[in-house]
Amino acid sequence: MVDRKPSLSPSKISTYLACAAKYKWTYADERGRWYMRSKSYFSFGSSLHLILERFHDSGDMGVQTVEEAAAAMDESWIEAGYANSQDMQEALGEGKRIIQSYVQQEIDRPKEAKTLFVEKLFRLDMGCFDLIGRMDRVDEYPDGSLEIVDYKTQRKGVSDEDVKVDLAMGCYQLLLRAAYPDRQIRATINSLSTNERGTGSFSDAEAADFRNDLQQLGNSILNRDYEGMAPVFRADLCPHCDFLRLCRSHDDFNEPPSTAQESS
Ligand code: SF4
Repeated sequence: MVDRKPSLSPSKISTYLACAAKYKWTYADERGRWYMRSKSYFSFGSSLHLILERFHDSGDMGVQTVEEAAAAMDESWIEAGYANSQDMQEALGEGKRIIQSYVQQEIDRPKEAKTLFVEKLFRLDMGCFDLIGRMDRVDEYPDGSLEIVDYKTQRKGVSDEDVKVDLAMGCYQLLLRAAYPDRQIRATINSLSTNERGTGSFSDAEAADFRNDLQQLGNSILNRDYEGMAPVFRADLCPHCDFLRLCRSHDDFNEPPSTAQESS
């Protein structure tokens, strides 16, 4: 059997940048999987993404109206990770409000573009790894340009500047540029709770720089010695992290004693 090249996605890379030990426990060391807990914000985001995928998929005629979107939300709601049923019901109500408002605005909006893909995985050979990314939606405009649309379920506001510095949006642009080298590509973040949008587009030089940086970062991620790595305490992350017990078992984990007592 031929060994497949390792792959890196925007979420793997973001995890590494937040905390290398977290990357290790999530992706590189099997012991981590026993400590991972469901998260309500992942369930909430996945539930909304599922309805939007169906709404924009021309092959799925089951979610075309506000009422159908609300009914689909009831049917496919993901319950994992909520602290109790009251929290879960409140989130379901909020999710329905967001989806109904989004669907109504989309119905009212004049159609400029057609949807080319929903939830499509792209892959790009980066040398010693493949960059992969699943895009929420890609629209095609009459002039042939393509727009990547990424839904954010937790973010309250969004600006063009946010798109410029967003790692995932940079990765998606690289992936789509490689698949469609003759098209103009732009990327949009759509904040679902406020229905605000931010849009940006790489120049050729920016895309080349980003690709080089990503290649170097990817090499560092994949070639790092995770076995011998000492986790570094972070006051903003560690107290709420699933892997705190694993990191505490490392002799060199530099957790302040006061924090250890509070969260034990
Ligand atoms: S406990 Fe802290 S150091 Fe360990 S994986 Fe989590 S965030 Fe990283």
